[in-house]
Formats: sequence, structure tokens, C-alpha cells
Amino acid sequence: MKLRLPHIVLALALYTLAVLAPLAVVLVGPLPEGRGFWIELSIALGFIGLAMMGAQFALTARFRRISTLYGQDSLLQFHRQAGIVAVCLVLAHPVIAIIAEPAYLSFFDPRVNLPRAGALSFVTVVLILIVALSIFRRQIGLSYEWWRLTHGALGFFTLTIGLAHVLMVGHYISPLWKQLVWIVMTVGAMGFLARMRVLIPLTERRRPWRIAEVRPESTGVWTLALEPEGHDGMRFLPGQFVWLTVSDSPLSLQQHPFSIASSADSLRRIELTIKELGDFTSTIGQIQPGARAFLEGPYGGFAFQDDVRCDGLVFIVGGIGITPVMSMLRTIRDRGVTTPATLIYGAPAPDKFVFRDELEAMVRESGLKLTLVAENADEAWPGERGLIDEGVLDRSLPELGEHIHAFICGPEAMMDAVEHSLLRRGAPLGRIHSERFNIV
Ligand SMILES: Cc1cc2nc3c(=O)[nH]c(=O)nc-3n(C[C@H](O)[C@H](O)[C@H](O)COP(=O)(O)OP(=O)(O)OC[C@H]3O[C@@H](n4cnc5c(N)ncnc54)[C@H](O)[C@@H]3O)c2cc1C
Repeated sequence: MKLRLPHIVLALALYTLAVLAPLAVVLVGPLPEGRGFWIELSIALGFIGLAMMGAQFALTARFRRISTLYGQDSLLQFHRQAGIVAVCLVLAHPVIAIIAEPAYLSFFDPRVNLPRAGALSFVTVVLILIVALSIFRRQIGLSYEWWRLTHGALGFFTLTIGLAHVLMVGHYISPLWKQLVWIVMTVGAMGFLARMRVLIPLTERRRPWRIAEVRPESTGVWTLALEPEGHDGMRFLPGQFVWLTVSDSPLSLQQHPFSIASSADSLRRIELTIKELGDFTSTIGQIQPGARAFLEGPYGGFAFQDDVRCDGLVFIVGGIGITPVMSMLRTIRDRGVTTPATLIYGAPAPDKFVFRDELEAMVRESGLKLTLVAENADEAWPGERGLIDEGVLDRSLPELGEHIHAFICGPEAMMDAVEHSLLRRGAPLGRIHSERFNIV
């Protein structure tokens, strides 16, 4: 949640323009005779739905500037919601047409036209699959990697068959120029997919990294240190994240997002601190120093920028959500930034606080105000006990002036509660920055 109203208005205006442009192309010039309100509505919905499907590829295309401005998690949330609307609109197209004019059922009749009926039935199933697999992926045990591959492929099929349907029906786009515009727009949308899945990884091939160190931090948490091989490393804002591939090829299916935990002043040694969670992260401890890796990025708008006026920094994190904030704190330390900083850090138990020694050194050396909140701890624990709740915030937060910046990262429930609490306490909306690790 990093809202800048003019940027959001601009983005929504551009998006609306992009999804209505293909319909506008259809409506230019002489039009065929109308076929009644419901049929015309169903056709308009189909065109808009298909254009929205195309725009889906742009939303996930990983443009760095856009990702920094809007935050990758916000873009993916929008992608998810817009995708559901797009599928509903595309499905509404035949449903409304058939209800208004049952003769349109013949489009699905293989006896009338086998290829057409086959393609339309296939795309209907594909559309339902896209939504169902995205919602129920975990329940059916589909791995993230296979879901991601399937998702892109199903989207590609939908757009291809959608374009073929538009061209073959041809009712509204009989002039050749209209057909060409639709073909160019569709190929352009697919280009976004090719850019993300093929072109960017191929570019990364020229900028490999080497795993320099694999270091245990606490039970089930590891730090990977990476050094550039034959290039200058990576410039990033503290708080941003990269996509990591540990493989000899950047085209590997296994590509995972991790926040950079090291200082932004250390371009030639990037550290990622990773918690064991699933199939990939559970293998981190077995990675051998010397292994080749690729880093794509940096991405994300969850970033501390020291050229922006700031009278106070508040960090509220839970669990492994400490990683992007650690990069900010290390950068602040390295640059000698004197802005008062408060960190409220929750973890399940006292031995689960990653970077505890380094944070306590920051308390002594640079005046960081640190509150450690252990969910389960005995009486001897000197910090707070339980969850990060209103009481902890009352006791630990400084006064939230107009020029503070608050950064929140951790479990969903904690983030929602803390965001609302900060707003109630008067923190300006545009100065509350959140990063959600569960983007899919
Ligand atoms: C912006 C961002 C920054 C992150 N930073 C850190 C960090 O600093 N340290 C850390 O330990 N974790 C971080 N994560 C979470 C980390 O990406 C997942 O824990 C990891 O990808 C899980 O992979 P897995 O195969 O081990 O687990 P799985 O069991 O396969 O996946 C567990 C869950 O992680 C998510 N996930 C898995 N693979 C991917 C992928 N390729 N892309 C996106 N999401 C995926 C899915 O929601 C999945 O359900 C971050 C996530 C995001 C989005």
C-alpha cells in the first residue's frame, strides 16, 4: 500500500484506454447493421474482455520503473482481480448471445463447423481452468513453477483463439486495416510474455553471479551471499527485491523472488536471507559455494529513498519480513543517516530473531529504537511477549508526524492490522509502505 493519487489516476486512465482502444478500433468507420441491444452488448463485452486478457501480459511484464512506482505486489494483485473480470467478460459474451438468440448455440455445434466448435469449447474450458488453477493451486498440490508455466500457456491459447475468432467472424473488423491493428495488438501483448520469459533471462545470461557463501542465520534460515562474475554488480534501492535463479541457465523454471538484505552501498556482494518454506527454499542450505546463479531485478516500490524528506522511520516487521528492512537499516548505517528509526520486530520465539546481534549493535551505535516481540517466551525474556498488537504499538511507536515513513512487512494478518492501526494513529496514507511476500 504505497498510494500516490496522481500515479494511480494516471495508471487507471492508461489501463482503461488500453482495454477500450481495441473496441474503439472496431467502432471506427461504417458499421454493419445492428443486431439488437443484447447481441451488441455481448459483442462489446467480448471485445473488452479479450483486450483485458491482452493487458494481463503487460501487468506481469516486469518493467522496473513501473514496478518501483507501483510495487510489484500491487501490480500482481491488480493482475489477479483484472484477470477474473476479464474471464467473466469473455464468458459473458457467448452466454448473453445464446440467451438472447439461441441460434448462436450452433457456434459450439461440431456438426455445423468442427474446428470452430472445437476451438470455442477448448477456450471456454481454458478460461475456467485459468481461474480455477489460480484459486485452488495449493489445494490440488500444483507446484508454483508448474502453475506459472501453465498459466502463461493458457493465457497464450486464449489470446490466440480469441484473435482467430474475432478475425473469422469478422463482423465488425472486415476492413483489412482493422484486422491488422487487432493482429498487431495481440502480437504486442504476447511480446510482453516473450519479454519476461525469454528476453529478460537471455539478457541475464551476460550478467551471471557466483554464490560466494552460504551461511546459517538461525534454524531454517540461511543467507546466500552472491558476487558478480565479470560485471559491476547491481545498483538497487534498499528494500527492493530480485528474482533468484540458482542454475547454469537463467531460463530455469525455478525462479524465486527474494528481498535484498544487504546494504545498497554494497553493489558487488548481494545478500539474500531465505527462510525454508517449500521445495526450493528447503534446498538453500545444500547449495555449494561457487555455484552459478542469476539475479533479475531489482524490482519493487518498497524502498527507502534518502533524498526524500523524512523526520522519522518506523519499521514494523514479522518473521522473515525483516529482510528488506535489514537492507534499509544497513544502508542507513553505512551512509550515516541520522533520522530517528524505530524497529518493532515480531518472531515466534526468542531464538527465531534473525540478525539479533547486529540489530542490538545498531541500538548501541546508532540509536535504533528496537522492540523485539516474541510470541512464545518465558518470564525471563526482556522484550515484549505475544503478537504485535495495539498495546505493543502504544508502548513502542514514536509520535507519527506528517513526515514519517513507515515500512511494514510480515504475515498478512499482522500487516492488515498494523496498516489500519497506523492510519488510525494519523500516519499519512502515502507514507505507509507495505511489502507482501505472498503475491500469488
Ligand atoms: C517481493 C518478495 C520478496 C520476498 N523476499 C523473501 C525473503 O527475503 N526471504 C524469504 O525467505 N522469502 C521471501 N519471499 C518469499 C519467497 O519468494 C517464497 O518463500 C519462495 O519463493 C517459496 O518457494 P518454495 O519453492 O520454497 O516454496 P513453495 O512451497 O513452492 O511456495 C510457497 C509459496 O511461496 C510463493 N512462491 C513460490 N515460488 C514462487 C515464485 N517463483 N514466485 C513468487 N512466489 C512464489 C507461493 O505463494 C507459494 O505458495 C519473498 C516473496 C516476495 C514476493
